[in-house]
Formats: sequence, C-alpha cells, structure tokens
Amino acid sequence: MSPTLDLVVIGAGSGGLAAAKRAARHGASVALVEGDRVGGTCVIRGCVPKKLLVYGAQARDQLRDAAAYGLRIDGISSDVAALLERVRQEVDRLNVLHLGFLERAGVQLVRGWGRLTGPHAVGVSETRGGELIQELQAKRILIAVGGQPNRLDIPGVELAWVSDDMFLQQTYPEAVVVVGAGFIACEFACILQGLGVAVTQVVRGPRLLRGFDAELADAVLDGMREAGITVRFEQQVTAIQGVPGELTAVLDGGELVQCGGVLMATGRHPWLNDLGLEAAGVRVDQGRIVVDDDQVTSVPEIYAVGDVTDRVNLTPVAIDEGRALADRLFAGLERRVDHELVAMAVFSTPELASIGLSEDEAIKRHGKEAITVHRAKFRSMDRALPATGPRCLLKLVLERESERVLGCHMVGAHAAEIIQMAAVAVTMGATKAEFDRTMALHPTVAEEFVTMT
Ligand code: FAD
Repeated sequence: MSPTLDLVVIGAGSGGLAAAKRAARHGASVALVEGDRVGGTCVIRGCVPKKLLVYGAQARDQLRDAAAYGLRIDGISSDVAALLERVRQEVDRLNVLHLGFLERAGVQLVRGWGRLTGPHAVGVSETRGGELIQELQAKRILIAVGGQPNRLDIPGVELAWVSDDMFLQQTYPEAVVVVGAGFIACEFACILQGLGVAVTQVVRGPRLLRGFDAELADAVLDGMREAGITVRFEQQVTAIQGVPGELTAVLDGGELVQCGGVLMATGRHPWLNDLGLEAAGVRVDQGRIVVDDDQVTSVPEIYAVGDVTDRVNLTPVAIDEGRALADRLFAGLERRVDHELVAMAVFSTPELASIGLSEDEAIKRHGKEAITVHRAKFRSMDRALPATGPRCLLKLVLERESERVLGCHMVGAHAAEIIQMAAVAVTMGATKAEFDRTMALHPTVAEEFVTMT
C-alpha cells in the first residue's frame, strides 16, 4: 500500500491547482489526480481561449474603424482557422507552464480519473468510473472536479456544440444559432459575429444575462443588435435537424433557422457522476456538493471547492477557495472566502462588468426608498470619429442615507478593467462623496464615476 499523503486533490482546474500548490508550499505531501489536461476549464476550454477569441473578434472591429482615423487598409482578408490554431497553441503553452508549476511546487501529478473509495482513499482509473489502476491513501481529500455544460433534451441535440467544442473547430460556418441567455451564450454570440458569422441567438425568457443589472443587460442587447446579431426572446429550439455543417434549428413557433452550427450555451452543472460520493457519504443537494463556510463536506476530512459546489462559478473564486482551504489546513491560518462581493464581467461587445448589488437586488434587500441610483449614458470619445458603436452606461447604486456604494456597474469598452479597480473602493465600503472627492482623470470614460450627479 502507498504511503498516506497529507492531501489528495481530484481535479487539476483553477481550484484544485491552487489548493495543491499552496498546500505543498506549506509543507504538505500532495497528489493531484487529473483525467484530462492540466489547467481545467479556465485554461483549456474557458476563460483563456475565450478571451483570446474576444481579442480576435475585436481586432476585426477595430479595423472597421480604421477609415474614420484616416487609415486606408486595403486587401484585408480574414483567416479564422489561423486564429483558432494560434489560440490552441497558446493553450498548449499554458498547459506546459502549469505542469512546470506543479513540478516546481513538489506536487505529485497522477494521470487518471479519481473517485472516492473510502473516507481516506481515492481510486484512480483510466476511464471515468472504469477499472481501478491505483489507490491513493490520504489524510484529507479535496474534490475540485468542476462542472460540465448542460445539453437540452431535444431531438438532434447530438448535432449541437457545447462551449468546449468551440475551441476544437477548424473554422466557423457562415451562420450559427446560439441557444441561451447567460454570459457564455452572449460572449460566443459576439465572438462569432465579430469573426464574420451571422448569429441568431435564441433565448427562452424575456431578457439576457439574468442576475446582472437589467438596465446594463439591455445596454448589452442594444449593442449586440446594433452589431447585427439577431436575438429572439421567448422562443425555444425544439429540435435540430440535418447533418453536421448543414443544420436546421426548429423553433417552437415552427420557424426553421438554417445554419452551419448550433451552440447550446444553456448553463452548466457540477460534474458529479462516478465520483463515489454516495458510498463515501458526501452529501449532495440539488446536484451540487454541499459545503460549509470552510469548504468542508458532510464528511469531516473531505472538502470541495469551485464549480462542483455551484455557488459563484468563477475562476478567481475557485482559486481563493482552494488557497484559503490550504492555508487553514496546513498553515493554521483563519481564512474564509467572501462570496458576497465578487466582481463579474461579460466579455461581450459591448463589455459588461459589475461589482455589488444590481438596482433590483438593492431594492429587494433595502427597499426602493432606501436607495438612490446615479447613471451616465453617452457615446464615448473613441466612438466619436467612427460615429457608430454602442453607448457606454455607467451606474452607481447607493444606500440613500449613508451614500455607501452598493453597486458599481458599467457597459462599454474596457468595463472589466475599470470595474476591477472600482471594486477595491466598493470592497472598502466607499461612499459617493469619496468617489466625488477623487480627482477625475480626463478625458476618460471612467471619470464619469467620479463626476456623476
Ligand atoms: P475546473 O476548472 O472545471 O477543473 C476541474 C478539473 O477536474 C478538470 O480539469 C477536469 O478534467 C477534472 N476532473 C473532473 N472530474 C475528474 C475526476 N473524476 N478525476 C480527475 N479529474 C477530474 N470564469 C471567470 O472567472 N472568467 C471568465 O471569463 C470565464 N469564462 C468562462 C468561459 C467558459 C466558456 C466557461 C465554460 C467557463 C468560464 N469561466 C470563467 C468559469 C471558470 O472556467 C470556472 O469557474 C473555473 O474553471 C472553475 O474551476 P474549478 O477548479 O472548479 O473546475
């Protein structure tokens, strides 16, 4: 039998990698079990390749503005296949980088799919749920297996892509139907449109980006429509017909939309199958592993972090949960993650970013009379000469009496970069008076946050 390790981590994504390296840095003996490529969703099939495609789509947008700035660019051609290949090369580079980080941290990487075989044992198999080839003994076990995309239960769904598939294509077809209203659906609709694809987005409900401030979501919608994306609300795709590359999406009203691809971006769920959770007594509720504020599951020395707990499904949150856990277990530090104030972005065009409460959420928590809202909507200077493009929207939601900033939101270019810095002030509990006391940096878009009346 192998020696008992201090920690075995299942899943080398954002949370698992962070926890494993931090625990090893504190002197723990750590093994990390991964069935796929090291890096997880964010590095291999999420944030990173997605953002590279966003840059690719925006580069084309910027060229469209060139004439307005006196640049004549003739003979431009677009090679989406080359862009996708370069994105995959960058992912390969990062994958190797992460392998190096693990090695230098002294974390033992175990290739294969892990599952609980006891409260202190992890079995490893070559295929998920397959025959065991190894068993690791551990004082503590961390489950960091992330999530998987949902697929609608409709005829022909096997013909659809999920977000993972978008990075594996050789190129994109001329027309794509995107199903969904969340951030992944909106981001891919904008990427595809920016790369020259005709996009129809089909949304079951009445609005995009539920959970974000409604006024901001509407501003994103305006920009997407202005760019040429067709958004259909309160409709559903009920079947997909045809052969790969030549598809028909059937809508519930009977309308047929011809396209070369259908992207199902209809949410994600924790990846719980074949993990041995039931046998080990790990409690699952509504498809997610239940943990307390210290990431402890219903079994005392089994922990879970990241998307598998389905709370705030973002990379920085998974990383912080992983690091906080390792700090607590192996360095005796009192560390807990604050899930309340988490900055979020949608890398659509126009971009949306947000920290704190939306107007609706603030009203729900504090009452309509107890809040005030300031907003500025305008065409930013970079759109002046091209005279096209979406308007910016900046919004502050305040607690009326104290003028404390409850929410700081923006739609417009570089919104995520701007809100990242505003998040420091909001996290510190800044008031509108403190925003106003900050000297404006002119001419910028973000100066509106400190000059708003
Ligand atoms: P993951 O990163 O998913 O890692 C889980 C790992 O566990 C995977 O490598 C998987 O192969 C492995 N695994 C699963 N089961 C087993 C098993 N039984 N044995 C061994 N290994 C196993 N977040 C942001 O903050 N910003 C963004 O811009 C952003 N964009 C995104 C775009 C897309 C298209 C998607 C899909 C997600 C995006 N996210 C973004 C979310 C972010 O990627 C996740 O929140 C984050 O990766 C969660 O980390 P995790 O450690 O919980 O899981």
